Amino acid sequence: MRPRIRFEDAGLSFWSFPDISLANWNAISRGTMSNETGDANENRIGDMPTEEFRKYGHQLIDWIGDFLDGIDETRVTAAVEPGFLKQALPDAAPEEGEDMDAILADVGRVIMPGMTHWNHPSFHAYFNSSGSGPGILGELLGSAFNINGMLWESCPAATELEEVTLGWLRKLVGLPDDFWGIIYDGASTGNLHAIAAARANIGLDIREQGLSGRSDVPRLRLYTSRHVHSSVDKAALTLGLGRAGVRKIPTDGAFQMRMDLLAQAIEEDRNEGCLPFCVVGTVGTTSTTSIDPNRSIAELCEREGLWFHVDAAHGGSAAIVPEMRFILDGCERADSVLLNPHKWMFVPMDLCAFYTKRPEILRDAFSLIPEYLRTSHDEAVQNYMDYGVALGRRFRALKLWFVLRYFGAEGLIARIRDHIRLGQFFAEWIDNHIDFTRMAPTPLSTVCFCATPTGFVNAESLNMINRKLMEAVNRSGEAYITHTMLGDRLVLRFVVSHLRTTEEHVRDAWELIQKKLVEIRGH
Ligand code: PLP
Repeated sequence: MRPRIRFEDAGLSFWSFPDISLANWNAISRGTMSNETGDANENRIGDMPTEEFRKYGHQLIDWIGDFLDGIDETRVTAAVEPGFLKQALPDAAPEEGEDMDAILADVGRVIMPGMTHWNHPSFHAYFNSSGSGPGILGELLGSAFNINGMLWESCPAATELEEVTLGWLRKLVGLPDDFWGIIYDGASTGNLHAIAAARANIGLDIREQGLSGRSDVPRLRLYTSRHVHSSVDKAALTLGLGRAGVRKIPTDGAFQMRMDLLAQAIEEDRNEGCLPFCVVGTVGTTSTTSIDPNRSIAELCEREGLWFHVDAAHGGSAAIVPEMRFILDGCERADSVLLNPHKWMFVPMDLCAFYTKRPEILRDAFSLIPEYLRTSHDEAVQNYMDYGVALGRRFRALKLWFVLRYFGAEGLIARIRDHIRLGQFFAEWIDNHIDFTRMAPTPLSTVCFCATPTGFVNAESLNMINRKLMEAVNRSGEAYITHTMLGDRLVLRFVVSHLRTTEEHVRDAWELIQKKLVEIRGH
């Protein structure tokens, strides 16, 4: 039996490789490829044979079909303790390759018990994400192609499909033609890029000189509502603005940014020598889905010369419904707008559609082209790597294309419209029940509510019972809801935006919430 040669056994590392002659590589390679009997083992190099790929591919698609058919019978939340998966798996990768049968069996044994099912129709937590059939197929094909869309030339179809699908989506939500688009992984990245563009727009040569150690740069200020998503703060951390660079403007009773206080804050800051540069408005804030007064913000930004960015990550999709178009009112005047088809347009994670009227500023902020990434087409095409931090770019447009084509505008409108109807239903049930109170307006399909049974009067006791109620609902595995804080009150959020959610699911969840409240109160 020929001994197997391993790097570690031979005391070799990449950096202290004693002999890199071809003969030596051949010897090592032969040793690595040989099996116990000394014969060359073909399976140690190259990919899975396509016959095997077909076999398990069909099995997996059948498994996914069964999973989606039976998802109603599955818990939506995981009933496991921290560490459950780490205990179930070895602490090192297998020395020898394993059979797909064994790997797939472990999906059932190890992965499934720890799954929180985002693709479950009773998932009413956070802002959910539906992996639709066409979206899943688009992802699969995208993995099979496995392209890198950094340059037009590195995959012309990927770049051009991104341009086409973003054009379609822009028209569907009613944004004007002068918005140019790019796909990012998520809205956090989109917000970061918008604020980076806004920062580049002030013209202090920050791209070349940076921010630190400069006495000629005043404190930069970005303005946004108290209800903005935390990713805007993270962008400020990343971009050297610091949290002090973000001024949070209080909201009114409907959780919308107060225009009078926004104008006042900008004036105050100018008087104190700060440099206002950007306002971020939101369409569909994370806690309550409130919609900022974006038309007024746009007017103010035009007057003040500030970049206006709109985060419509969740809410923007609703603008596809003609009678909901108004939610993007004023956004046509923004410098940049983003929405996440992975949140409410049935595209699987992850896909953020980012639009700006000023792509040249974004490009100025990020373009940096080493020689090895230059191509002969550069003058004639658009290379998406120039418009962001990421070089490598997945073929995300493929799944968006599949979804837009499969459902069509009518199909998407009907589904999103139905979610809004169901959200409004739920809001009405809350309003009509003596033990519950709605805590915010419901402009879309997310309902903020509290259990307010008699006997619980102060915020502390109400927060305690609402937390218990949420935990009881989620422990049941029958529905999943999450919470937010509005002032000093812990508020429960019920989101209806999953593709498979029907009126029955919403009714069942409402029954469950009422039942759990009765159980907690003990009568
Ligand atoms: N913006 C808003 C309004 C959100 O609600 C969220 C997430 O829920 C984000 C941004 C961040 O989204 P992503 O997970 O795509 O980064």
